[in-house]
Amino acid sequence: MKFCSQCGASVEKKIPPGDLLARYVCTRCQVVHYQNPLVVTGCLPQWQDKVLLCKRAIEPRLGYWTLPAGFLENGETIAEGAARETREEALAEVEILELFSVINVPHIRQVHMFYLARLDRPEFGPSHESLEVGLYGEQEIPWDEIAFPTVYRTLKAYFEDRRAGRYRLHVMDIPRPPPRPAQD
Ligand SMILES: [Zn+2]
Repeated sequence: MKFCSQCGASVEKKIPPGDLLARYVCTRCQVVHYQNPLVVTGCLPQWQDKVLLCKRAIEPRLGYWTLPAGFLENGETIAEGAARETREEALAEVEILELFSVINVPHIRQVHMFYLARLDRPEFGPSHESLEVGLYGEQEIPWDEIAFPTVYRTLKAYFEDRRAGRYRLHVMDIPRPPPRPAQD
């Protein structure tokens, strides 16, 4: 951040009085611009023994597979956001069931949440965000082409729970990836 979104003056990074962390503070109007993690909300839509996956038509991870998910919008609940993302990405209507996974991704400043969901009917299709949308059994899932670690972990936990005959809430952390080795 370079400029204040309130008044357009330049900002400086400093620890405001009474705070513990450095923030962007406006040099003119003194507004403190807090930056906090974003919530990504999504769901795992089920139809019979299959789950709905979308092949991404947009970056990041274009061409890789994901569950319908996206950034929570102002004024909506995480369940509403999950249903909206499913409508936008897969042209599908779902009944949102219980919350299934909450995954911290601190190094990219995000928290991802996935609900279990049930397709209202087996109707879905590609969209401006998805090249393909389909229903996949566990053996048919392109496990090597999953777009995001949070989606991979959610899918793995889902099939483990299904085998165990009960679903529980999974709270997980995605560790920071190791630094790339220096190139010579
Ligand atoms: Zn300002």
